[in-house]
Amino acid sequence: MTNNIPLLLVEDEPNIAHGLVYNLSEEGYVVTHVETGEQALQQLETQQFALVVLDLMLPGIDGLEVCSRLREGGNQIPILMLTARGTEDDRITGLSHGADDYLAKPFNLKEFLLRVAALLRRSSWQTVKLENRHYDFGSNRIDFETHQASTANETIQLTELEIKMLQLFFDHDGKVLSRGELLQQVWGMSPDTETRTLDNFIVRLRKYFEIDPSKPCYFRTIRGRGYRFTKHPD
Ligand code: CA
Repeated sequence: MTNNIPLLLVEDEPNIAHGLVYNLSEEGYVVTHVETGEQALQQLETQQFALVVLDLMLPGIDGLEVCSRLREGGNQIPILMLTARGTEDDRITGLSHGADDYLAKPFNLKEFLLRVAALLRRSSWQTVKLENRHYDFGSNRIDFETHQASTANETIQLTELEIKMLQLFFDHDGKVLSRGELLQQVWGMSPDTETRTLDNFIVRLRKYFEIDPSKPCYFRTIRGRGYRFTKHPD
């Protein structure tokens, strides 16, 4: 059985790589496996993939560097980052380098396959109809066509997940979105999934768009309920 979806796996540990190639192939994916960051960038330049599974710790340039280079080059391919470490710092670092999701080793194989499938489902967003090309709030402007954001300080290339999440917030200006709603709408995850991914995304959005990320006014936490975006805060 094949679904003809081409994936790139970047993993230097032979045992893990072997297991992932086997199981992804069983699911019908067409897997290309490389062992270094350099090989990954080379593959991504010459071939089209639907998603990259990217190990963080690699010989030569590491997963973070691969991530950064792809995003800097405007490549918005979904990236699932794998890491041996599971500390909060690593998660935030990985996500701030442009990864869309994050899985700490050792992970459950079923969970891994679900994450891959969820990321792929969301990557069909390019076809999502956007009523407006731009959205402005404060001194920020989001361009939904180029996925660029201009803020008071800089121009940022947003990932597809970030765009998707922003769109959801903008569509619900002034309303509280629960964690469950966000997980389901943005990541396609079950609302009761235990994950810090969402919180890390909020941290990133605040870093990009808030005047003082430690005192957010646009992306507020509503305790016990979720998050609320307000276009015109008091
Ligand atoms: Ca490794």
